[in-house]
Parts: sequence; structure tokens; C-alpha cells
Amino acid sequence: MANILFTNVRILDGGGTQPYTGEVLVQGNRISRVTRGVRAISTSGVTVVDGAGATLMPGMTEAHTHFSWNDQPSLGAIQRMPTEEHILWCAHIAKRYLDRGFTSCVGAATAKPRLDVVIRNAINSGQIPGPRYLAASQEITVPGGLADETLPHLPFPEFSFGAVVSGPDDMRRVVRQFLKYGVDTIKLNLSGEYIAGIPAEFTPMTDAEVAVAVAEARLRGKRVSAHARSCDSVKQCLRHGIDIIYHASFTDEEALDLLEAKKDKVFVAPGIAWLINTSYHAAEWGITPEIAKNMGYHRELEIAIESLKKMHKRGIRVLPGGDYGFAWIKHGTNAKDLEYFVRYLGFTPMAALVAATKHGAEIMMKASELGEIRDGYLADLLLIDGDPVANIAVLQDQSRLLAVMKDGQFHKAPDVRSARSVRPASVA
Ligand SMILES: [Zn+2]
Repeated sequence: MANILFTNVRILDGGGTQPYTGEVLVQGNRISRVTRGVRAISTSGVTVVDGAGATLMPGMTEAHTHFSWNDQPSLGAIQRMPTEEHILWCAHIAKRYLDRGFTSCVGAATAKPRLDVVIRNAINSGQIPGPRYLAASQEITVPGGLADETLPHLPFPEFSFGAVVSGPDDMRRVVRQFLKYGVDTIKLNLSGEYIAGIPAEFTPMTDAEVAVAVAEARLRGKRVSAHARSCDSVKQCLRHGIDIIYHASFTDEEALDLLEAKKDKVFVAPGIAWLINTSYHAAEWGITPEIAKNMGYHRELEIAIESLKKMHKRGIRVLPGGDYGFAWIKHGTNAKDLEYFVRYLGFTPMAALVAATKHGAEIMMKASELGEIRDGYLADLLLIDGDPVANIAVLQDQSRLLAVMKDGQFHKAPDVRSARSVRPASVA
């Protein structure tokens, strides 16, 4: 593999340091040297990429990803895609995440039992392009819970978006089945969701069922994540050692204290785009702002913003990403989340960037080797025409993404002309 030297780049290291002009040498799949200033590293035997003042930053992590969601307006519609088309869709979408600068994604549930596992394995074997990926199970739910899409006269699991279990023994059977398939994460639906006709503050799963799921996952060294909007479901996560909490809209002081006490273990990935866009931008699909308000989404959005602001202030890791792949928040627009974090959740642009990079590596279980531009770290890098610290929205513009590197290899190689057209470092 060729050694690559990025020179004349503004290094945004992902760890929170203000950007500085420097050079980064990639050897094999790792960053072997990072220096301040230019012409510090020998150019002999390396391919030189002159960034001409562009920003070099770590690849981003999407902390709450559903490749199998196919930009449809309901869970039932997502599920109805036949398996053969569905796996092709997932492969197509996996590439799109890499195209858009997401070099890591945490699978947050798959619509059919093995889609996530098959895609992860195909990426890892080099069969298809895609980000680093952690494969999830289907959403596991109880009868009448979120993702139980079976009809009374068609009680077949194939018709259901989620895997429906009732009681600890049934939970054990289903969790073991997903672990047999090779998932990295077991996903539990611990609260409701208004669009499915189930209140967000409803918490339907018993502690006995949750405990069995966590015990079985742990036995094989795997993790559990949860759809947890209600305050009770957030506490249920913390009671059972579930460290990946999706949504966490409703909290009280006790829940916040419990989260803070476990802030070195817990990740919250709220999927805030879902609440914002379902509330105000889904009219084309029949959900006018008035309908969304009546469902409960406006109230939940307001409460969630307050909860998440408090979490961020307390140093709890809140990560961008989540629930893209629905009709009104399509795959590929995920970098919008960083802008939402700045606009709504009290993040500085730098804090949002750290959440997407350093903290992203932590949820990927690659802390201290991914998510920052440092000697010895894995070379997942983005070259960007612009300064995301000054304008976080630049990450949403694919034409400004000059290069994408994953594991030391270019997924998108820099075009010399476009790299030269950006402003030199001295005036950047
Ligand atoms: Zn989700």
C-alpha cells in the first residue's frame, strides 16, 4: 500500500484542539506522523497530497444507523421490501455513508434478521464499499409494542418490522438466535413511539425480559442498545447496564444523575433529526405540523431539547446521528445532525465535531486508535474544502468533501484540481 503524505492541510484533530496547519503521513492503514508546519516530513517514497489549505479531519461516526430503512414513510412500508431487493438496498446505502464522510456507523436495528450482519461481513471482506460497521439485531419488542407490525389475521413474524417476544424464556430464545447470526448489538424497544400509535412515555417491557436479554448478550461479549424515549425506559437501561441509549427524550433529575454517574460508559444518540422533521417537515407524507403536534411530537421535541442540553452540560456523551432512512429524513443527509446539535442542543461546533469523531470512536469500541488525528491511529480521514469549526454546515455539502480515506485507502481520492482551487492556508 502506498504511503500518503497530506501536506499544507489545516489539521482538525478530532480531540478538540483548534485547527493548525501541518502535515500527516499515512503508512499502511495508520497515521504514522503528525507535524505542525509544512515541509517537516520527507516526501521521498510517498504520494504527496497538497491540501492547499483544506481541512483534514477524522472520518465521522453515525451513532444510530439503519441501513435497511429504505426512505419510506412507515415501518410497515420499510419491511415490505422483499429480502433480495433489501440486501441490495443496504449495500447501496452503506456506500452512501462512506461517500458522505461517515467512515464508521453503529447499526441500531435492522428490518430483517440478517441484513446488518451480511452487510457488515461483506464490507469487512472487501466485497462492497462501506464504513466500519457494527451489526444490529432486529428491534426486539413485546406484543403491541413498537415494531410489532403483525396483523391479527396474519400473525407471521415475516410481516413484523421487529421480533416480537413475550416473557423471559421467549426473549432468551430470540436473543440467542440473533447472537447465533453474529450481531454485535441486541436492540430492545423499551418505550413507545407516537407515529406507531404508542405513546413515547409508555414503557412496556418487563425487567425480567430486559435482564435476560442483557445476560445473554454479555455471555457472548456483545452489547445491548435500546429505543428509550420515556424516563422509565432510560432508568431501565441504567438499571440493567444498557450503555447505548437511543433518544432519551424524557428525563428527570434522578435519570440525569444516574446517566452522569455512568458517563464514562453510557452513550446517548438521540436521533434529534427525527423529532425535528417529523414535527415540522413531514406534511408531504400526511403529517402536517398540526397532526404532529396532536400526536405529541412538538411536546416531546421541546422536552428532549432540554434533556439533551442538560446531559451535554453534565459531560454525558451525546452523539450525532439517528433514524435517517425515513421518507422525510433520507439517508445521506446525516451531517445535518451536527448542525442541529449546534443550533438546538447547546453544542459549540467543536463539541459537535468531537462528538462525531473522538466519541464516535469510543462507541465503536475503538477508543485510543480511531477518531483522532494522532500518531498510530487508524487512518480514517476526510479532506474538506472549508472550515467546519467556522461553518458546521460545510459537512453537508458533498462537493466540499475533497477526499475520503478509510483504513489508509482512498474511497474518494482527491482531485488535484479541486484541491488546488481552495484557498491557501495563509488566508484560510
Ligand atoms: Zn432508531
